[in-house]
Amino acid sequence: MEKKQHIDTVCVQGGYTPGNGEPRQIPIVQSTTFKYATGDDMGKLFDLEASGYFYSRLQNPTCDTVAAKICAMEGGTAAMLTSSGQAANFFAVFNIANAGDHVVASSAIYGGTFNLFSVTMKKMGIDFTFVSPTATKEELSAAFRPNTKALFGETIANPALNVLDIELFAEVAHAHGVPLIIDNTFATPAHCRPFEWGADIVTHSTTKYMDGHGSCVGGAIVDSGKFDWMAHAEKFPGLTTPDDSYHGITYAERFGKEGAFITKATAQLMRDLGTTQSPMSAFILGLGLESLHVRMKKHFENGLAVAKYLSAHEKISWVKFPALEGDSDYALAKKYMPNGTCGVVSFGVKGGRAAAEKFMAGLKIAAIETHVADARSCCLHPASTTHRQLSDAELEACGVSADLVRFSCGIEAAEDLIADIEQALAAI
Ligand SMILES: *Cc1c(COP(=O)(O)O)cnc(C)c1O
Repeated sequence: MEKKQHIDTVCVQGGYTPGNGEPRQIPIVQSTTFKYATGDDMGKLFDLEASGYFYSRLQNPTCDTVAAKICAMEGGTAAMLTSSGQAANFFAVFNIANAGDHVVASSAIYGGTFNLFSVTMKKMGIDFTFVSPTATKEELSAAFRPNTKALFGETIANPALNVLDIELFAEVAHAHGVPLIIDNTFATPAHCRPFEWGADIVTHSTTKYMDGHGSCVGGAIVDSGKFDWMAHAEKFPGLTTPDDSYHGITYAERFGKEGAFITKATAQLMRDLGTTQSPMSAFILGLGLESLHVRMKKHFENGLAVAKYLSAHEKISWVKFPALEGDSDYALAKKYMPNGTCGVVSFGVKGGRAAAEKFMAGLKIAAIETHVADARSCCLHPASTTHRQLSDAELEACGVSADLVRFSCGIEAAEDLIADIEQALAAI
């Protein structure tokens, strides 16, 4: 058996091996459509009898090549790109949950995902129960119902920064015959590969560290190929019974555990909802992925240095950084991310909302942005921006206090970031 390659090698080389005389870098196939000699040739593609390209809303070679790299990085069997992280999480859940179904999700998740689940998907007839990321096995189990179709959580929650006990969540999901879906945006496969801990489906907002340069909004879904849909056939009729909207194909029979989930999401959801990533964006994302492992190391080093500095500062009331010694998630961080977490630090400035805003305005290197996980440092006050739709109780449930500042350490020099923070704190 071939030796499994180190993640650093997969980041650089994964997903694309050009043949003789082919381009070294992946080609940008900027074409909506693809030519065939006969209608019959193309008909085979529509019937999913032959694989090939016909229209870029469904599949495009550049997007597929970048998806293949992300698939290799996560150690999955199939992957697809989407237009955004929101689309990725929507597809991942909607692919297996219909109106009348129920999903259990950690309450410590991205605000956009929380809205998607608790407002928009709820309107579509899918019910969600939110559980604490620190729930025990018994508490988690109690949230399940006969119509529950998935368990959902984030490796490192944005912006609460809790580390999910993936093994425990996977065990409870599997005991109830449903897959565990993990949004791995903040950890990235450079630092955590949830499939190694029992997760079944991984999603990403590639907008963040994967792209890494604040260039392109995008998302990805990866399947581990491990969840046995047929063993729970009655729960997942969309995968285990014929799809009348797609020539009567039964995805789990035709494409097996390895390919059913992504094929259905592409042939059905992408066909009908059309949240495709553009080939140009996919190419830029691919460039970002080649240096992901190098950048993540630096993001983490800077995050740790800033967290240590802040935790000793008299004007700071609290610091949350899972890999900081003494943090409530320290043991989980060491277990799931022994090489480091990410570069995002959350903290409270003494004096609450007003002091936090004054501090942020005084920063010269870190810019105020809704963005996070960029090569350039940036910061945000979630309670007055990304999470402003949420009530105080909802804010508390997803681990966001009114004084929380989310500081995303870029890959600049830590000493400069700390000097910048120092002068901004001195001014308040
Ligand atoms: C940003 C983010 C999303 C949403 O991704 P977009 O690309 O902005 O649509 C989902 N999950 C997490 C953890 C995120 O940080």
